[in-house]
Amino acid sequence: MASQLKYKRILLKLSGEALMGEDAYGINTGVLEFVAGEIKQVVEKGVELGVVIGAGNIFRGVAGASKGMDRTTADNMGMLATVMNSLAMQDALERTGVITRVMSAIPMQSVSEPYIRRRATRHLEKGRVVICAAGTGNPYFTTDSAAVLRALEIDADVVIKATKVDGVYDKDPMKFNDALKYESLTYDEVLQKGLRVMDAAGIALAKEDNLPIMVLDMGVSGNISRAAFGECVGTLITA
Ligand code: UDP
Repeated sequence: MASQLKYKRILLKLSGEALMGEDAYGINTGVLEFVAGEIKQVVEKGVELGVVIGAGNIFRGVAGASKGMDRTTADNMGMLATVMNSLAMQDALERTGVITRVMSAIPMQSVSEPYIRRRATRHLEKGRVVICAAGTGNPYFTTDSAAVLRALEIDADVVIKATKVDGVYDKDPMKFNDALKYESLTYDEVLQKGLRVMDAAGIALAKEDNLPIMVLDMGVSGNISRAAFGECVGTLITA
């Protein structure tokens, strides 16, 4: 591992499904503890870390809407579900001794701080992990877009999208043996090839500001730390 941190401030995007493990629904406490350990490792190396968590393990707006729910109501429920995941992550992190703040885009003063950009950056400077809950606070968005948005706001050096595979492939590596992994990609390639890395709105937003996105396998211990020190442990998306 290189001795110099390449990325000093990182925005880590965890999908809700990443907290589910092999379960069919909800939060797997074993997985949560593993993720907390990975985060602790990076924070101890001096990285300032923001985290955005999805809610696919609990509720997604589109799923509700496909069953006839009003889309905005369903998305609001999805955002509330991210708050549950964020509180679970906070709990797991604090049990390992990492100091955190949950900041919600939907004000919920009795369980979290409201998201205020200047306050968020102050927490980061003090070494606290900032967990940004409730996505962007707006329906019709996803937590991928929220991750890029928050990364830009807090001036993060990179968005790390933690997944179950070790990078971006030309087709689903779980289904096709001959799937090829990309070491690097441009934003345009991701959009043109329709690669399912993150939603197009998130990629387009990252492109506007040249914010690098790294896709890596969260299941391999030490991967986030290696990425922080500049090792290409997954696929890097840049201009
Ligand atoms: N959501 C939203 N606005 C946002 C972020 C999220 O309305 O800015 C809702 C949306 O319904 C989404 C759900 O919250 O389906 C959970 O987020 P996401 O699907 O991104 O979770 P992930 O796929 O990362 O687990």
